[in-house]
Parts: sequence; structure tokens; C-alpha cells
Amino acid sequence: MTQKKKALCITWLGTAGFLIESGHDGILIDPYVSRAGMLRVFLGLPLRPDQPAIDKWLVRLETKIHAVIVSHSHFDHCLDAPYFALKTNALLMGSKSTLNVGRGVGLDEKYLKEAEIGRDIHIGPFTLKFIESAHGPAFLGKVPYPGKIDQPLTGPHPARDHKLGETYSILIRHPSGAILHHGSAGFINGMYEGITSDMALLGIGGRENTQTYLENVALKLNAKIVVPIHYDNFFVSLDKKMKYLPGVNFREFLATAGKYRNVFELKVLSIGEKWSCNSLISDELVKSNPNRHPGESRGP
Ligand SMILES: [Zn+2]
Repeated sequence: MTQKKKALCITWLGTAGFLIESGHDGILIDPYVSRAGMLRVFLGLPLRPDQPAIDKWLVRLETKIHAVIVSHSHFDHCLDAPYFALKTNALLMGSKSTLNVGRGVGLDEKYLKEAEIGRDIHIGPFTLKFIESAHGPAFLGKVPYPGKIDQPLTGPHPARDHKLGETYSILIRHPSGAILHHGSAGFINGMYEGITSDMALLGIGGRENTQTYLENVALKLNAKIVVPIHYDNFFVSLDKKMKYLPGVNFREFLATAGKYRNVFELKVLSIGEKWSCNSLISDELVKSNPNRHPGESRGP
């Protein structure tokens, strides 16, 4: 008897935050729901996770969260992540800097797992792989808050203390398809050599040139579905209507990406909407190449 594939679903949490779930198994990537106001961030006031907002989202999560994965340590990716891990007894996975944010929150060492580039990590029905990436020049043409967090980050800190650390993309493979989370709009030439993904979750805030970006990420991955992310104004509460991040030029992204409509489908998600992407891999593809595992290296 053939085993039935479990549905693969994704929910966008705003910014680069995602819940990826299959049956009762889930992982979170870059969950950030506190959404500190712009004035607080730019005045350098300390940032505090919004516990009621985190709890509200936790109530909505019906799956067992196995891991909270962080693509880099800026506050809009990493401020809330350790709390999500703490409250769900999940692993916090990311760079040394990210783990120091976890230590500051009081996460036990057994819940901290440092990212190892290129290594397959099996978590429930998912196989994860961290890929070295680069941050986009997101603020006035520069990468904000560069550097590393060398010590546990205890207590509330201003945004500038949430230093970048390493930047990763994360490949998530599942029997129903592969999803690539590219949380910041930079890239390293050749970073996706030999890697394919059915879907690309593409951070578009702070990108340089859309065409070049697509050529080096979505097209290199042979993505069939491209989901733009990180274009919402994350200084505005999730309880309010979504606004675009200043300068993100969403229309230009749609127009440039639209030129590739024969190559990939553009999927624009709403924050909080759960989308089933169970049929990323068509049965025809699987039949024609039964050995193909989604997200595996391209054959010769
Ligand atoms: Zn960032």
C-alpha cells in the first residue's frame, strides 16, 4: 500500500516569518510579531518582545513546533524567535549570534543548535539545509547593524545590538516538494549552484536590482512558484491593515517578476493565511523520474 503524502502548508507571519507544517509537525522561520514602532527603533530605545502578541500566535499554532530557525540576527528576524522556542520547547537554530540571543532569554543549551552550512538536518518530515547567503543593502544602501553578538544578549536592547551575525538561506525538503526561504534580498554569486527548489520565499525588502536578484535566486533555483516576502511595513502592528515597507516598490517587483510568467508563478500571500502547497511536485514529474527527491542537486 502506498503511503499517503501529508499536506504541506505554509502560513506567512509578516516580514520573513513563516510557519511550515505537515500534519502535526511544524517549524517556524524568522517569526517576528512584536513589530516595534519606527520611532522606538530609530531612537535606539530598547526593544521588548510583545508577549501577548506571541501568545496570540501560539494559540493559533495547531502543530507541534520542532524548531525555530533564524536566517540572521536582526531584530525583525530574531527578537521573538527565542520566545517562540521557549514556549513551544522547540530547538532554536541559527548562527552563534542567534544562539546568544537565545541564551540571553534563558534557553537551555540543549535547545540551541548552531547552523552547519550544507549539512542535511532531519526534523520530523522535513530535511533542512542551511546555505550561506548575504544580507541586502537594506538601509541607505548599506547592510544595517553589521557584526556579531558575542555574548548572551540579556535584557531589552536597542536595535543596533541585534547585530547581523551570519546570513543564511534555508532549504526545506519534504516529500511534497522543496521550499527555499531566502529571507534577505542579498545573494552570493553561485550560492545556488546544484540546488533546486519548487518554491522560493523571496525577501524583497532592500533589494538592489530586481532583475539581477531574480536571475541569481529564483531562476537559479528553477523555482516554479515565487512568493514575495518581507515587503510589509514591520513597524506597523499586525492588528492593523498591512502597509508596504517604505521604498519597497512592490509594483516594480511584480512588473519585473511578471516577465517570467512562463517560468514561474507569482503567489502573493496574505499575512496569517494558511496556504496548502501540497502539489508542488506534479505526479508526472515524479513518474518520469521516480528517483527525484525534491530539492536535490540537479543531475547532469
Ligand atoms: Zn536584516
